[in-house]
Amino acid sequence: MELENKIKDPFKRPVISLRISITGRCNVKCLYCHHDGILPQDYEMTPDEIFQIAKIARDIGIEKIRLSGGEPLIRPDIVEIVEKISTLGFRDVSITTNGTLLERYADELVKVGLNRVNVSLDTLNPETYQFITSKDYLEHTKKGIQAAAKAGMNPVKVNMVVMKDLNHDEIWDMFQFCKKNGAVLQLIELLKTESCPDTEFIDQYHYEMDDLEEELAEISDKVKTRAFMQDRKKYFVDDGEIEIVKPMDNTEFCKNCTRLRITPDGKIKPCLLRNDNLVDIIGAIRSGETPEELKRIFIDAIENREPFYDGC
Ligand code: SAM
Repeated sequence: MELENKIKDPFKRPVISLRISITGRCNVKCLYCHHDGILPQDYEMTPDEIFQIAKIARDIGIEKIRLSGGEPLIRPDIVEIVEKISTLGFRDVSITTNGTLLERYADELVKVGLNRVNVSLDTLNPETYQFITSKDYLEHTKKGIQAAAKAGMNPVKVNMVVMKDLNHDEIWDMFQFCKKNGAVLQLIELLKTESCPDTEFIDQYHYEMDDLEEELAEISDKVKTRAFMQDRKKYFVDDGEIEIVKPMDNTEFCKNCTRLRITPDGKIKPCLLRNDNLVDIIGAIRSGETPEELKRIFIDAIENREPFYDGC
């Protein structure tokens, strides 16, 4: 990737990707959910407004777009949104979803330009699934993962938030499930933010992944560090792949963060972990500001970007 010409924040971090939260609503209720660090809100932008934001991002050199939420696939216009964004020529257009509706949409989404998907699934055990999400959609999610791989999304990643005494002993079963279904397992550290519903839950179930990482390093055929993806480690084990995401108290996570976010009500969110530096962009779009002014608002937000865990 050519980084010389990329827009950078004052900490020399290039901004390469944009994660747009297209709804705050969700059809499951995960006990730990941080809603992408966004405080609860009902507002949603129209497909055209989302397109306009993506266009400014493209014009300042952002290469990758990910749609998230809430649950992006509960929007009835999700195919239209992906189709519009795909016309802008991004290197990568992806979605993070709980997978419950993915079987229904997988083929259509690939047809209109979706490249890849991350599906959140923490367990293969129906009772644990019900405990975490308050719903019994486990089989729908499993079918969604299979449908995504079959439709040609690549890679299909399974996001598993690892929780002590709840699902940490399922990691290897999840790995086998992913391998069998053409997916990569991504293990995510349980994170506490001000947008989490139950911080006591997070303290109780937080699982330290250091020992696991040591074990993985020993048994892996190869380990890769993913530059510009918060220096995540990717382990190649037994013809499968496992990635680890550790945002908690992690200066490396911040140092290598190349991502901006957009909230469902159209604000630029420069950091997953804070809400005191949001920048309104939708107001300027609605009042018909010039493309130059819209770009300037984005660039200002980037120029005021600071790491949450200071180590840059
Ligand atoms: N509804 C979609 C889904 O389930 O993937 C997208 C939104 S969800 C907030 C995005 C990702 O954040 C999911 O993979 C979820 O597991 C992860 N996540 C949510 N709360 C978290 C927390 N407290 N710690 C770590 N990851 C979390």
